[in-house]
Amino acid sequence: MKTNIEIRFDASDMPGGADAILGPSQCGKDIAEIREYTVLDIRNIKVDVTLDEEDPRVAKVLALLAEFGEKPWITYRDIYTDDELQSAPLLVLITWAHVRALAVAKYDESKACPRCKTGIRQTSTLTVSGRDLKKTEKLRVLGTTDVDVLVHDVDVERLLAAGVTGALFWPVDANTRPGHVEETRRQQIFPQHVMPPMSAKSLVDQSQVCPDCGRGWYTQVMDYPVRQVYRREDLANIQDFNLTWEWFGAPSSVNEHGLGGGPPHPRMLVTPKVMNLLRGKTKKEQKYQGCGFAPIWIEDDTHDKPYVLT
Ligand SMILES: [Zn+2]
Repeated sequence: MKTNIEIRFDASDMPGGADAILGPSQCGKDIAEIREYTVLDIRNIKVDVTLDEEDPRVAKVLALLAEFGEKPWITYRDIYTDDELQSAPLLVLITWAHVRALAVAKYDESKACPRCKTGIRQTSTLTVSGRDLKKTEKLRVLGTTDVDVLVHDVDVERLLAAGVTGALFWPVDANTRPGHVEETRRQQIFPQHVMPPMSAKSLVDQSQVCPDCGRGWYTQVMDYPVRQVYRREDLANIQDFNLTWEWFGAPSSVNEHGLGGGPPHPRMLVTPKVMNLLRGKTKKEQKYQGCGFAPIWIEDDTHDKPYVLT
C-alpha cells in the first residue's frame, strides 16, 4: 500500500505558467497534468501533480507554490495492491454514483436516536428516480442520495448462488414518469450484521458526533482516504456483508430548510469474496463496476501504527 498526494494548483498568474513550478521541482509529464483553456479572454492554467507522499519532490513543489503565494488544493489517496485487497478481512464499499432516492413509505423509528435518527429502520420499498437510473444503467453497483446501495438483479443471483452470508435483498421501484412507479431490475442490499465500534485510531471526523447517542454524525475527514481501524477480536463474527456501528452523515445546518446535513447511514463492509463477485475483471468492466473497495486496517500491539493485514 502506498499513499499518493494530489496537489492541484492554479498557474494562470505565474510568470512562465506551470513550468515555474514543474521545472525547478523536476516534475515531468508522467506525474503532472496541465489543463489550459480560455474563458472570456482570460487564460487559465490548472495543474494536477500526483506523487507518492514520501517523494522528496512533494516538499519542493509546496515550497515553490508558497514562494508564489499560491495555495494548493491537496488530496491524499491510498493505493492498495491486489494482494492487499484479496487478503483484507473486510473492505469498505464506496459507491461512485448516486441516484436520487425519492421516497420510502415506511420507517421504524422505535429504536432510533430522536436527535440524529441513528438506528432508523426502513420497512418498505425504496423508490428512486427513473431518469437517474437510466443514466446509470451501465454501472453494476449504485449508491443513492440517501446512501443506500443498489445492485443489478443478475448480480444478486450471482451473490446468492455463491452463498454469501449476512445480507437481505429488497426490490427497488423507480418513478418513470409523474405519478407512475414501477419495479426495477435493481435491488437494495440490507446487511444484517453490525460490527463493534471502530478503533479510535480510525481516520474519521468525530467533531460533530451526536451528543445523545454517541453513534451518529460521524463524517469522513475531508481530502483524506477512508481508513477504518478494527481490533483483531472485532472480526470474530463477520459475515460477507456487514455494517459499521457508527452512522455517518452531518447534522443539518441550523436554518429553516434544514439544509447542509446528510442522511444518517452506516457504511457497508464486505469480504473479498463479495468484492470479487462485484468487481469488473477487465479494465473496461472495471470502469462500470460502480464502486471502489478500501481494506480495513488492523490494530496490533506489535506495530506502532495500525496496518493493512496481508
Ligand atoms: Zn444520536
